[in-house]
Amino acid sequence: MHKTFMENLRKDMVENQLRQRGITDDHVLDAMGTIPRHLFVNEDLQNEAYMDGPLPIGFGQTISQPYIVAYMTEILKLEQQHSVLEVGTGCGYQAAVLSSLAQKVISLERIKELALSSRKQLQELGFANVDVINANGWNGYQKGAPYDRIIVTAGAKKVPEALIDQLANSGIMVIPVGKIMFSQTLRIISKDNNGNVIKKKSLPVRFVRLVNK
Ligand code: SAH
Repeated sequence: MHKTFMENLRKDMVENQLRQRGITDDHVLDAMGTIPRHLFVNEDLQNEAYMDGPLPIGFGQTISQPYIVAYMTEILKLEQQHSVLEVGTGCGYQAAVLSSLAQKVISLERIKELALSSRKQLQELGFANVDVINANGWNGYQKGAPYDRIIVTAGAKKVPEALIDQLANSGIMVIPVGKIMFSQTLRIISKDNNGNVIKKKSLPVRFVRLVNK
């Protein structure tokens, strides 16, 4: 009963919030239509998990709005063989979406409690190709570099140089950048196959702050 209820909410989310607003990548739609988003929030917020907005996850942080998760994931044009770096695991929902569409995901979270709980939840739900690491991700994570794709899910004052360095040739990075808290522009930074960097701007977004080192 409860399960079907959540499945229906999830189906409505995919149709009304994602497909209707122009998300067309079937892999992204399928992943978000399958992953139990309600299990990434506190029990008392589960009924709100498929609503059209962010939700609090404790420690002053949030789980991102479903549309923004879909939009940023679609930008990445993920392929099965890709290795992905995420900065800002939070509750682990975005990491679960990435996990379904790529080979390997490294996700960095600076708040220890969130790193531990998202790691546990991802493991329990079978997202075995995600490593959640409790670290500040401002300088990326050199050990796993280069990454085919990089996604930053907190708002940076500027694009951290280390992340550009750790992006593979032919790679794509998406990152919210802005000087003001809760007001950023999504930037798409890609490399061609010779490593030349190409920068583009996309949607205005509202993320919590990416903490500097
Ligand atoms: N990806 C999440 C949203 C996370 S909210 C989702 O799926 O909904 C942003 C997260 O980034 C917060 O948990 C915050 O603690 C974390 N964060 C902020 N600055 C960071 C940094 N420099 N390194 C690692 N994590 C950071």
